[in-house]
Amino acid sequence: MKISEILKQVKRSISFEFFPPKTAEGEEALFRTIKELEFIHPTFVSITYGAGGTTRERTIRVVKKIHTQTNLTVMAHQTCIGHTRKEIIDILSQYKEIGVQNVLALRGDIPQGQEETFVFPPDGCRYANELVSLIRETFGDWFSIGVAAYPEGHPESPDLDTDIHYFKKKVEAGAEFAITQMFFDNRYFYNYIEKLQKEGIDIPVIPGIMPITNFKQIKKFADMCGATIPGELIQKLQAVADKPEEIEKIGVDYAIKQCEDLLKNGVKGLHFYTLNKSKATIEIYNHIKDLL
Ligand code: FAD
Repeated sequence: MKISEILKQVKRSISFEFFPPKTAEGEEALFRTIKELEFIHPTFVSITYGAGGTTRERTIRVVKKIHTQTNLTVMAHQTCIGHTRKEIIDILSQYKEIGVQNVLALRGDIPQGQEETFVFPPDGCRYANELVSLIRETFGDWFSIGVAAYPEGHPESPDLDTDIHYFKKKVEAGAEFAITQMFFDNRYFYNYIEKLQKEGIDIPVIPGIMPITNFKQIKKFADMCGATIPGELIQKLQAVADKPEEIEKIGVDYAIKQCEDLLKNGVKGLHFYTLNKSKATIEIYNHIKDLL
């Protein structure tokens, strides 16, 4: 079923993001995680795609397996960077063939060190709005299309208003909902939504929640995507830097408070970056389920 339709029907959406594992053991572990999370009845689950096609076969396989072997609604992430239009159409045609109707249309990151020199294929899509247009032109209304949103602005953008200007182009091209980059201070999200409303953008924007379970890893992710970790939280995490269980407890407690605040402020849903694990997400869910 199309996510855009489901979002119209449900009061709140809960969704999970997974990445396609490299090994057969990793894939088995992923499907165990999916089983453990099934009781939450997620609105949808999504599978990431390695920019430039690095996970092409794995993403397609996992999306197909979820679609054919579970009752879950699945969304395939699709990046355009490094692909020709034909390659993108070929991949999405495979989804259409088996009945998958949801895609998150992304540009993907420019490979590190190539920011100045990267050459976009002349017959490819340079930005995500072009990918959204390509999907609409090729497949009409078959796919419900989601896009990425950045409450703190995309790292390449000179400022938030410029980023919102380009975000609007994705909506005008046919995007029906958006999922945000992780953020740890809800004020960025509320400010962002206010700015979108001023621009007349009213598609559902679902906050992406990353429960902190590993300090080093989260610092690296946050640096890469430009997400601010509040100073107070960093200090708390630093104080227990060599105690993984305490890091996870602080991270999960923080995410619970963040989600409670978002739900009280009327968000349409929550999208959890699970990193293919279920424990933190289940703990958070158990604390917030009465607010859903
Ligand atoms: P765009 O919307 O194209 O924006 C990229 C930059 O260009 C922004 O700075 C924007 O302001 C600017 N811009 C946009 N359009 C124009 C234009 N027409 N002219 C000039 N400037 C423009 N990456 C992966 O590789 N695989 C994934 O599976 C994946 N999943 C993600 C899921 C979510 C929810 C999010 C938030 C991000 C995800 N990413 C993923 C990361 C994403 O690919 C990167 O953040 C990438 O750098 C930008 O992708 P985008 O689709 O937001 O690009």
